[in-house]
Amino acid sequence: MTFMKTRKQTVNSEKVFSRSLALIPGGVNSPVRAFGSVGGTPFLVDRGEGAWLWDIDGNRYLDYVMSWGPLILGHAHPEVVKTIRDAAGRGCSYGVPTREELALTELVIERMPHIEKLRLVSSGTEACMTAARIARGATGREIIIKFDGGYHGHSDLFLVRAGSGLATSGLRASAGVPEDITRITVSIPYNDFKAVDDCFLRYGSAIAGVIVEPIAANMGVVPPANGFLEHLFKKTSHNGSILIFDEVITGFRVAPGGAAEHYGLKPDLVCLGKILGGGMPIGAVGGRKELMDCLAPMGNIYQAGTLSGNPLSTAGGISTLKELARPGVYEYIKRYAEDLTGRLSGLFEKYDIKVQINRVESLFTLFFSEYKINNFEDAKKSDMARYANFFHALLDEGVYIPPSGFEAWFVSTAHTSEHMQLTVKAVENFLKKAE
Ligand SMILES: *Cc1c(COP(=O)(O)O)cnc(C)c1O
Repeated sequence: MTFMKTRKQTVNSEKVFSRSLALIPGGVNSPVRAFGSVGGTPFLVDRGEGAWLWDIDGNRYLDYVMSWGPLILGHAHPEVVKTIRDAAGRGCSYGVPTREELALTELVIERMPHIEKLRLVSSGTEACMTAARIARGATGREIIIKFDGGYHGHSDLFLVRAGSGLATSGLRASAGVPEDITRITVSIPYNDFKAVDDCFLRYGSAIAGVIVEPIAANMGVVPPANGFLEHLFKKTSHNGSILIFDEVITGFRVAPGGAAEHYGLKPDLVCLGKILGGGMPIGAVGGRKELMDCLAPMGNIYQAGTLSGNPLSTAGGISTLKELARPGVYEYIKRYAEDLTGRLSGLFEKYDIKVQINRVESLFTLFFSEYKINNFEDAKKSDMARYANFFHALLDEGVYIPPSGFEAWFVSTAHTSEHMQLTVKAVENFLKKAE
């Protein structure tokens, strides 16, 4: 793979990262951060503000990763920081219920009325793992259907043909996951109605639930085909199976009520995370009362967490959701994404380079491909070597996009027209050199 050596001075990053490599596996605490698929050494961050990140060498980057989704208000939003600071001054964890857990839950349910009860956990991984356990426990069935390229965290049961880092590293399933567990997770192509029908024919009464990213965002952004989510809704309800929307990315992003609101659907269970904590570690699973009441201490499905409902996480979530209630927020980030992707489409066309830009509201991915991207197979056929070149060209210009072609770009309320100009210019410079 060839890519231009970064022109920025990154000696401090190189030095610290090489020391990290000796003590931290791959030098990172989550795989995609290692720049494996784009090459080069990751920069180490010193601080963030608004749409910007500063590395430890003093370089500044316009950020389109935004901590992989949570920072919809930008880095270090003053109100969010203040709320978290105040909370920290009163103690970092209690292990006793707080008013803030209820306050955050109320803010969620206002936006997502299909959620009747909510349990807070500490990550999206836990949320999805718990949702699957509820589906299995409540139905007494074993099989969970997922979709190729869908990512639902790193618990054993979902690491089969998964998106995000597993896609980036080209792994089919993770080592260390027992064969027996992968057998009861059935992964089928996204947006494939027939595969869904075949699956229900074959496994019917053994299907506990179907988990789906209602707008796939971990194989790059891939919107659901017309009627696909409705089809899942029909199939699961006829079959007595649980429909789980994994809205860890889409929740509070594509609409206040997430993809469920955007498409007007009522899943049985919803998984949340990312924006829900405003940058603090969090996750949540919510849904119909009779399902949620199967959880301990009400029911016999066990789930717990020392730091669940943590006061710093609820502070991050409450302040973020309150800020998001300001009028025009969703229109603003959508318009930014619409304008930016429109201008990028125009530029790539002008330079005669075939790209596909998939976008739903403010969520989008640019694929180097001449074919439409409707599922994971399509996404894998896009030109990732070219994406790597693109990534480094932009990084050189001070624009940080996801270090993998299988990820979504994230914009925030802190992204302005000035930032858009800079992005467009960086892309144009890439295209000029690519000629
Ligand atoms: C990020 C993500 C998860 C996992 O959340 P973590 O907080 O990283 O454990 C699950 N589902 C989706 C759709 C995600 O994007």
